[in-house]
Amino acid sequence: MKKNVLIIHTGGTISMMEDSAGSVKLADENPIKKTSETIRDMANFIVKEPFNLPSPHITAIEMLSIKKLIEESIQKQSIDGVVITHGTDTLEETAYFLDLTIQTNIPIVVTGAMRSSNEIGSDGLYNFISSIKVATCDQAIDKGVLIVLNDEIHTAANATKTHTSNVSTFQSPQYGPIGIVTKGAVFFHHQPIHREKYQMKSVSKRVTLLKAHAGMDSALFYALKDINIDGLVIEALGQGNMPPETLKGIEGLLAANIPVVIVSRCFNGIVQDVYGYNGGGKHLKDMGIIFSNGLNGQKARIKLLIALHNTESHIEIQRMFSL
Ligand code: ASP
Repeated sequence: MKKNVLIIHTGGTISMMEDSAGSVKLADENPIKKTSETIRDMANFIVKEPFNLPSPHITAIEMLSIKKLIEESIQKQSIDGVVITHGTDTLEETAYFLDLTIQTNIPIVVTGAMRSSNEIGSDGLYNFISSIKVATCDQAIDKGVLIVLNDEIHTAANATKTHTSNVSTFQSPQYGPIGIVTKGAVFFHHQPIHREKYQMKSVSKRVTLLKAHAGMDSALFYALKDINIDGLVIEALGQGNMPPETLKGIEGLLAANIPVVIVSRCFNGIVQDVYGYNGGGKHLKDMGIIFSNGLNGQKARIKLLIALHNTESHIEIQRMFSL
């Protein structure tokens, strides 16, 4: 029996076309929506297009609206799986937001394309079909939100866009994909081990992301305090260290009860309180900075945003970041 699959188109290159001047833009009619004949036999489809945006235009408000659309649709009718098409620039953030907030165990797959619909070697329809295969596969149940592109299945927590233009851009540094898609079948070779779920009903907090660098000072931290941010994620140096000139500015944020979370600007690894010098990890921990457990900066920002809508306790936020 054919499964029921909810398709949610949100925009991005997978929904774009290249014009005669070589500019890639949203088309009058979304080209991926016109592929229904090709995919007709794979499932019964319920197709929604809540908006059609390049993904740099996506904010947490759109992420929340996708979550609500999925939850409402699941309540109204029997849905076996969901495929979301999305621009690749912020795809990992939307996928992780949904992973942390959607209360269902049906497969939810987020996909996109690096080449628009009329470019040579376009990967949009191919990735879309691979995603439907995963969304209709029983083994994909209870694996959290998945990212499927270029024949690979990644978790929302680990996958990141690693290349500006290559079709194999999505990688899970340190961990690798959890499965692959072939012409005839879907194979999983890893099972994600933990799943966290948080409430998210509205978006009202402002959380910012900064990257540390040699010679960084406190100026940006003072400015962030002045604009009343609710939380800050810093991509710190190495194992989790900061230049000493930043410390006064960071102390000002902590004194104002603004949680500061650090991840590493390194591509791999987890921050730890190893170094005892001024600005070293031990010093940062003593100041009350929260250490994350291997997320990249943009995903730690999503998690802190969600955390702040659930609790004001820095101890509870630290607990969430150690899961
Ligand atoms: N800039 C595009 C977007 O994220 C890139 C893509 O979709 O691949 O909307």
